[in-house]
This record gives sequence, C-alpha cells and structure tokens, in this order.
Amino acid sequence: MSESNGMVTAYRGRFAPSPTGPLHFGSLVAAVGSYLDARNHRGAWLLRMEDLDRTREIKGAADQILQTLDDFGFTWDGPVMYQSQRTEAYEAALESLIQKGLAYRCGCSRKEIAQIAQMGEEGPIYPGTCRNGQAKTRDSHSIRLLTQHKEIICTDQVQGNICLNPGKELGDFIIRRSDGFHAYQLAVVVDDAWQGINQVVRGADLLMSTPRQCYLQQLLRLPKPHYAHLPLAVDSQGRKLSKQYQDAPVDSRQPIESLLQALAFLGQPSPAEKPVNLSEFWAWAIEHWSLRKIPAQRQIAVSPANQ
Ligand SMILES: [Zn+2]
Repeated sequence: MSESNGMVTAYRGRFAPSPTGPLHFGSLVAAVGSYLDARNHRGAWLLRMEDLDRTREIKGAADQILQTLDDFGFTWDGPVMYQSQRTEAYEAALESLIQKGLAYRCGCSRKEIAQIAQMGEEGPIYPGTCRNGQAKTRDSHSIRLLTQHKEIICTDQVQGNICLNPGKELGDFIIRRSDGFHAYQLAVVVDDAWQGINQVVRGADLLMSTPRQCYLQQLLRLPKPHYAHLPLAVDSQGRKLSKQYQDAPVDSRQPIESLLQALAFLGQPSPAEKPVNLSEFWAWAIEHWSLRKIPAQRQIAVSPANQ
C-alpha cells in the first residue's frame, strides 16, 4: 500500500517485456522482482508488451513470452496491453505537448547531429538546431521535446537518487521518430498512467531513462510512480544477456531451478529445501521477499550456467 493525497491506494506494478526474442535469465529477473514486490504488497501485477517498434519485433515472440511466464507459474491481472494498439493515446499526448509549445519538428539526420553535437553519457546531446522552427524542408522529421536546464531528481528504492539535467546532459530528445513510431519514453509514461501503475520495478538498463520519464510526467501532468531498478544480469564481458549474443532462453522444463537462481541474483534468501512445485516456490518467495536485500548495483555478471 502507498500513500498519495492522504488516500491509501492499492499497489499496482507491471512487467513490460519487448517481443524481440524468448525470455532470457535477465528478463526473468525483472519479471520475478516486479512480481514478488507486487504480490508481497498484495498488489496487482499487469503485463504490457512493448511492441512499439515493429521493426525489431520477432514474430511469435510475444506469445512465446506469455507462454513462458505461464509455465513459470506467474499469474497476471487483467488483459495484456499491447503498445502497438495504443498509437492514438501516444498521438494525443504528443499533440498536447506540441500545442503547449513544448515539442517541435526536427529535420536533422543522425549524421548531421553527430557532426555538431557533443557526446553525452546517453548519446549525442542535440544542440537545438531546429528549436525555432527552422526544420529543413524534408519529407521526414522527428518530434523533439523541449528540455530545460533544470535538475530532475528521481528517487530510486534500490539504486539511490538519480540526478540529471535534461537540457545540459540530454538535449531536446525525440518523442516521435522520423519513421512515425512514438519513442519509448513517451509511450511508457502514457501507459504507466493509463494502467494506474504506482510502482515500477525493472532492470537498471532503464535507470537513466527515468529522469526523462519523470520530466514527461511533469509536462503531461501525469502521476509519478515509485521506482526500483534491479541490477542487470550481464555476461563476463559486461554485456546484457540477449538473443543478439545467442544467450540461451530460460528452460521451461526446469522452472524452479531458474527461479531459485533469479532469487539468489536479487539477494533474496533461498528456501532450506527445494520447493516441490511452483505454487510452493511462489508462496515461499512472496512471503520472504524484501526490496532492501537487493544489491544496490547496476549490473552483476552471471556465470554461463545461469544464462
Ligand atoms: Zn533538428
């Protein structure tokens, strides 16, 4: 339960995988962390398929992920939300930002920006070339959000405070790409608000996206959820586990093994004896879950056996 406006609101968490391949150990960790935190608080756990970028989608991956979650004994509340069906909501948010003069068209190519932009930690810092409406006459353009030189502070329940000055460290960032797809940053804040999410538990690869999302929430006057970013599972070279590097998907025939590994990865205690079935595992894990035990690390290397 969390307090807001003096009213006690029920916990609503979510898991939002991208259908770019089967579920890996890294995404299982995010699913386990968000699920246990929600169920430990007797909260709801919703699913959202981040299939916004259809150029990256692997056919059948969304159904495969849902099947795997089911095989692992996860239960979710309500229907699964698909970002590919939410274009109108994103467009409405985008339109409201444009109307308020907070977003503008940019006709610059990636190459042009790379030539003049300073490099920030999150990529090139867009220098604001098209801010005053001088977008070159081109067929395609992206839409950028006007940023300010003002520090945004996000409190994270695992990683501590994150401070970022969007104007200085990011520059005006893209909220609709030139190929017409809405940017993840815009979609996620619109969807979190629409699904009534008040607690976001996800991988630390999204930690530095959080200030952008908090900034968008302010501009769109949307409620701000609480955040907890889990350590990211990486290989010995520090790479996020993914299909791209041919890491093996989690094995649905041995769900309890993988779930126990995910628990250990998140710094949680293990049951004295191996649970006999999934419902015994989940009952134990929900009862013993503690966000405070999660290591405050952005990434943790896992052995090949875990991948
Ligand atoms: Zn531009």
